[in-house]
Formats: sequence, structure tokens, C-alpha cells
Amino acid sequence: MSAENSNLRRVRCFNHSEREATARCPVCQSHFCRECITENNGVMICARCLSKSKKLTIWSRNMRELIFLSFMFMFSFFIMWSIFYSVGHIFSLIPEKYHEGAFINHILTKALEPKD
Ligand SMILES: [Zn+2]
Ligand SMILES: [Zn+2]
Repeated sequence: MSAENSNLRRVRCFNHSEREATARCPVCQSHFCRECITENNGVMICARCLSKSKKLTIWSRNMRELIFLSFMFMFSFFIMWSIFYSVGHIFSLIPEKYHEGAFINHILTKALEPKD
């Protein structure tokens, strides 16, 4: 640790050649001064890598939303398809006689039949 500290003292900031580096960015491995490096979730990271990681986070979040939405779309499509399929299947089970009006005629003739 002390060796690294003494080494940092000689190293200059990546952005400011006149300033001494105080920390090294763990992402890009470049040395930066106090102004150029910021803490993010307990990790000292340079501004450039921070903006990159933020973009990446936004992108991955958008990707997750897109995957979720497409999944929901497919799921709802499947649900709608199965509903229409079952309704169609139920209709196909109704005997043809019903469509021809024979079923109604049968009921009507039964009802109008003279009772003895
Ligand atoms: Zn960096
Ligand atoms: Zn700097």
C-alpha cells in the first residue's frame, strides 16, 4: 500500500499534467487528481468511466424493459390466441343442425305439438 502511495506521488493526473494523481481509476487504469475522480458506490472512478457506466446502465435497463415488453406481448398474444381457439373449438362442437335452424324448428315443433 505504501509503495503504491509513493508511486502515486510521482504520477501525474491524466487530465492535468501539472497536478499529482491521488487515485487510480480501476476501470481505465489511468491516474487522476482529486478533481477528476469521484466516488461511485464506494468505488473511486474517473468521470469518463462514470459516464460510460451510466450509459451502460441506462442501456441495460432499456434492454430489460424491451425484453419484458416483448415477453408480455407474446404472452398476451398466446392468451388471446388460446381464447379464440377455444371459442372456435366450442362453436365447432355445436351440431350442424343448429346452424341450419333445425334445432330451433325441433324445439318449436315440440312446443307447438298438440298435447293429447
Ligand atoms: Zn476511468
Ligand atoms: Zn485532474
